[in-house]
Amino acid sequence: MPYVDRIAEPWGTRTPYGPGEPWPVRVDSFLESGLRAQDVERWVQSATILHSNGDGLDIAVKDGRVVGVRGRAQDRVNHGRLGPKDLYGWQAANAPDRLVRPLVRENGRLVETDWDTAMERVAGRARRLLDEQGPSAIGFYTTGQLFLEEYYTLALIAHGGVGTNHLDGNTRLCTATAAAALKESFGCDGQPGSYTDVDHADVIALYGHNVAETQTVLWSRILDRLAGPNPPALVCVDPRETPVSRAAAVHLANRPGTNVALMNGLLHEILANGWIDERYVRDHVVGFEELEKRVRDFPVEKAARICDVPVDALREAARLIGTARRLLSTVLQGFYQAHQATAAAVQVNNVHLVRGMLGRPGCGVLQMNGQPTAQNTRECGADGDLPGFRNWSNDAHVRDLARVWNVDPMDIPHYAPPTHAMQMLRYAEEGSIRFLYVTGTNPAVSLPELVRIRSILGQERLFLVVQDIFLTETAQLADVVLPAATWAEKTGTFTNADRTVHLSEKAVEPPGEARPDLDIFLDFARRLDLRDKDGAPLVKWGDAEGAFEAWKECSRGRPCDYSGLSYARLRGSGGVQWPCDDEHPDGTERLYADGRFWSDPGHCEDYGRDLVTGAPLSDIEYKALNPDGKAIIKAAEYVPPHEEPDGDFPFWLTTGRTIYHFHTRTKTARAPQLQRAAPEPWVEMSPADAARLGFTEGDLLEVATARGAVRARLRVTSMRDGVIFLPFHYGYWDRPDGAGPGESPGRAANELTITQWDPASKQPVFKTAAARVSLVTASSGAPSQAPTTAASRPVSADVPATAGGADAQAEEVMR
Ligand code: SF4
Repeated sequence: MPYVDRIAEPWGTRTPYGPGEPWPVRVDSFLESGLRAQDVERWVQSATILHSNGDGLDIAVKDGRVVGVRGRAQDRVNHGRLGPKDLYGWQAANAPDRLVRPLVRENGRLVETDWDTAMERVAGRARRLLDEQGPSAIGFYTTGQLFLEEYYTLALIAHGGVGTNHLDGNTRLCTATAAAALKESFGCDGQPGSYTDVDHADVIALYGHNVAETQTVLWSRILDRLAGPNPPALVCVDPRETPVSRAAAVHLANRPGTNVALMNGLLHEILANGWIDERYVRDHVVGFEELEKRVRDFPVEKAARICDVPVDALREAARLIGTARRLLSTVLQGFYQAHQATAAAVQVNNVHLVRGMLGRPGCGVLQMNGQPTAQNTRECGADGDLPGFRNWSNDAHVRDLARVWNVDPMDIPHYAPPTHAMQMLRYAEEGSIRFLYVTGTNPAVSLPELVRIRSILGQERLFLVVQDIFLTETAQLADVVLPAATWAEKTGTFTNADRTVHLSEKAVEPPGEARPDLDIFLDFARRLDLRDKDGAPLVKWGDAEGAFEAWKECSRGRPCDYSGLSYARLRGSGGVQWPCDDEHPDGTERLYADGRFWSDPGHCEDYGRDLVTGAPLSDIEYKALNPDGKAIIKAAEYVPPHEEPDGDFPFWLTTGRTIYHFHTRTKTARAPQLQRAAPEPWVEMSPADAARLGFTEGDLLEVATARGAVRARLRVTSMRDGVIFLPFHYGYWDRPDGAGPGESPGRAANELTITQWDPASKQPVFKTAAARVSLVTASSGAPSQAPTTAASRPVSADVPATAGGADAQAEEVMR
């Protein structure tokens, strides 16, 4: 059997294929040391949870423990492949420091207790605050890693039971702009495209999307197209050199914060050359004239000057995109975590609308997600929106949801847009939110400006509940910690970025007294005695399948219609894309194939926003656009970032991810192969900047902004001059201080980032901040420990290549 070190070779062996051909199968697997496939007692169906790609896998079980994973050959998403985080990350479930008993704070310390005591403390505080201050004292902050059933239950508890508008997920940090951009252009959330568009596209444009590291299996699919006959041309927009930019026909390394200028330049060139589908625009789109007017005075020369990219490269990118016969575009954090996030992402949609490139094989937009179940957070309303993509400002939609939940419409808060995470933290800072229930996420590392976040979460007057599988930095600040089960220890469904629904079955028992998140939510609802308008229990299900069946009814007739699905239908399947209903019993590969959109004022999920100010439009303003089932082109003017480099802080600081870690490393740092591959943070800088400042590879540097400082060793890469990069995964739980830096120098990138967000999507700005860099100690000759395999590849040939070694050999079987 061929074995490959998948730390050293993250994308595995190539299986080339040509346009329109099926992507070959390659089954990847990794088992605990010394085990072979025949030693496995059971294989249990599931999917991947450490990124948003949603690859089908089977969990290997022996002696009641998870002992490995294997890709599912029949799955439509991955055809058997897995990425490094999937192959090694499952080991976190078996980590010895899992939370196994509830904890409560006594005399300033967290001490073990029983479930009844912990839950009574949680429910008791919630009841008291509801009596004294009302629902606005209560906030819920969840994640992109629970299951659909759990989000739907949480949304019902928060919106239909407690009656608070303060509900969001950490998906605000990754996918809020995806949702916002889809709503602005198409009237409704939901990806138009499908991963199978990779099989057909002749041009793939990736905007701020280092897919090689964020969705490794999708990149494998693209690499296999590149290795086959008639490969697609790639256009890459990214200030860093990445595996994507190295494979691209055109790489636009624009100055941070200039994405809208870049898009306006591209659109100007596309329109000026007449690369538009006039019929499609006439029949299916409104707003074209506004776009024409907006980009008329934005020639590529002007865009190139603002973005600081070669004008010929911009022109060539426009030619490739403008003349593609099948164009696939993908968008992620480089666009989403910026000050004009939605405005820029919407311009990518506009390219497809003016080119008529939607609803056909190879013609799709993937406004990507960051997390495995981010899509469900949005669909089920755990990001604060109303479930089933209902419009909070359309009374008919609120009434319809009230019918489904059997509550009074006035009990569902819809007086204002839902409170986004950054605003919830502000309310907690000001003292109006007094109870914050955090599930499966770690804001004490992931939110911007951590000094402020730690002080908000650590306040005496805020009752903080954290439900998680480990004692994270956030959990260490909590009043009550509830030990949760992880993915292999419970059953549920989840949906990936191309709308593919997977079932994940329980494979093993949770450790100690840990419980599935769903069970804990049901317990909370019971203790609050939440009732519907007839006095019956509000939450009418007691298990995951019951929750799924209820969700099917809630989604029936909505764009994300699950009514044709069931656990039985998903069991054994290779994933099904919603909508799946009587009309589409096998699911739906691409949305909007008929050129009709969910934009009719009575149907749309949102009336949209002003892209510059973020002000919500009224129904009257929306109707004036006259969408009537057509897509909406929204133009945007370029506005410079709020904070730009100056004499004191001369660098652009941008933060991001590495291929080997997920979010705040809660799970991936507990997988030895992943942790060894990227054991500590680093700072990237271009060769010219390093030479100018006299720095060399491995020097310990201090990076500072107006908010704080961190220390990290230097990796010199082919980065854009004037820009530095820090990975954001690293916090403090595995350092002596625990919850924060304490007396030691900081290392979490978010010590430095700014409390600002995109006005439309409310996604925080992680990609632009002004920073300075100084030397702490020179390197003794040892390089930084940044991985060499991906974007942090060193310019120096002397740095040893990242490898996993003997315990990272994963099996690959070609079929
Ligand atoms: S690393 Fe965290 S914040 Fe970033 S995309 Fe992934 S889940 Fe979202």
